[in-house]
Amino acid sequence: SVAALDDEVPARHRTPDRYAAVGAPPGPGRFVSTPDTDPAVREHRAWARDVLARVPVSTLGSATIDAAWLRSSDGVDDEVVRARTAAHAWAALPADERARVLHRVGDVLEAHRAELIEVMAAETGKTLDQGDPEVCEAVDFAHYYAELARDLEHVDGALFTPASLTLVTPPWNFPVAIPAGSTLAALATGSAVLLKPAGQSQRCGAVLAELLWEAGVPRDVLRLVQVDEGTLGRTLVAHPGIDRVILTGAYDTAALFRSFRPDLPLLAETSGKNAIVVTPSADLDLAVKDVVTSAFGHAGQKCSAASLVVLVGSVARSRRFRDQLLDATSSLVVGYPQDPRTQVGPVIEPAAGKLLSGLTELAPGERWALAPRRLDDSGRLWSPGVRVGVRRGAPAHLTEYFGPVLSVMTAADLDEAIAIANDVDYGLTAGLHSLDRAEIATWLDGIEAGNLYVNRGITGAIVRRQPFGGWKRSAVGPGAKAGGPSYLDVLGTWRTATATE
Ligand code: GLU
Repeated sequence: SVAALDDEVPARHRTPDRYAAVGAPPGPGRFVSTPDTDPAVREHRAWARDVLARVPVSTLGSATIDAAWLRSSDGVDDEVVRARTAAHAWAALPADERARVLHRVGDVLEAHRAELIEVMAAETGKTLDQGDPEVCEAVDFAHYYAELARDLEHVDGALFTPASLTLVTPPWNFPVAIPAGSTLAALATGSAVLLKPAGQSQRCGAVLAELLWEAGVPRDVLRLVQVDEGTLGRTLVAHPGIDRVILTGAYDTAALFRSFRPDLPLLAETSGKNAIVVTPSADLDLAVKDVVTSAFGHAGQKCSAASLVVLVGSVARSRRFRDQLLDATSSLVVGYPQDPRTQVGPVIEPAAGKLLSGLTELAPGERWALAPRRLDDSGRLWSPGVRVGVRRGAPAHLTEYFGPVLSVMTAADLDEAIAIANDVDYGLTAGLHSLDRAEIATWLDGIEAGNLYVNRGITGAIVRRQPFGGWKRSAVGPGAKAGGPSYLDVLGTWRTATATE
């Protein structure tokens, strides 16, 4: 229970202690990120071993929805009425009160770090080094949006009116941080929420909802719903009681939502096909490390993942970068998250469709520098693949595969590399490895993506420090960035009133 919280949360994780360490109170002026578990610390290693030992060897999420959860259209109607009714009292609370609940949510999530990592590993195959920072991100969203909510009340001459009911439809690849972030943002504004977890990660959604209720979010203000994917649009998205939808998922899903309801107020973070450009001035050792972690972390199942690397000039002509990339990629340990050595976990859905073609098919001119291998019968465990000889406009250049496969492309100069990166429909993340200031300026100027990373990996955005969201087909709706200062502003309606005397 919440009363026991202070005993359960290790000192390093307690919010006030963390702020005491930097000599500042929590507040919009300061934001201290939640620290990851640190394998260099002996106690943290022992803790991590215990966490992994508790992860059941389970069937990974397969979108077979637990029948007890499914809501019919009537069931959805009931949920909508309940939540809309409860929304009045929630919206009427002073923002301070809601902020207090959100800060408490942050503390409760942190106290349940182990349980959240376990359920992510069991259900979505997340390794501890991926699940642990995901819990931190969820905690950060709680504390950050709590503070932004206070600001909404203090805009001179303008009045913010929240939605009554927001539908949150998160993906399975970040089954805790993304539903937490979207749900908490809407709650912070004063809206009630229907949370519909992805079918593949429904237990993660259920555990998360329990923790939010435990922390003081009223049960009727946050409702957990599950419908089968076939009726999602009709029963939920197009439901007249839903004012607004926050979606994270494929661009095609956003387009589908719009087809159910063309005027739908939708805030969607969608697909990516992200490139890292490596120029001859780069620190190539660093570039190899960052490409490998960005491409194959969580088996490439991130919207933010690197799925293209574009080698410029002499980097393309020499063997050095390529050889190191292949050595580093073949050294990755592929397995299930119960094994602490695992670096590349399973793909959540057995490879099929686009992903399967990405892992198996070659277009003219292409070959495998490292062929992906299917490692067991489940179709989920694949050794990472590196495809070379990819031509501009080929499927491997333009298609988001969402799995452990990387395309290597080459460019005569930086301008051509930027053009290759910009050819894709999406624009989520992008990376540059270069130690040349003029090159960095040229790339920053020309690259079409929302999150730009220079001389580092391109995944793992951090609340407040690196607000996350893209442009082109990586965003649908107002395009506000998650974990950024304007995220709450777009979740309601602003009114201004002027009187003439
Ligand atoms: N925010 C995550 C990151 O920066 C990616 C989220 C996603 O894949 O949807 O890596």
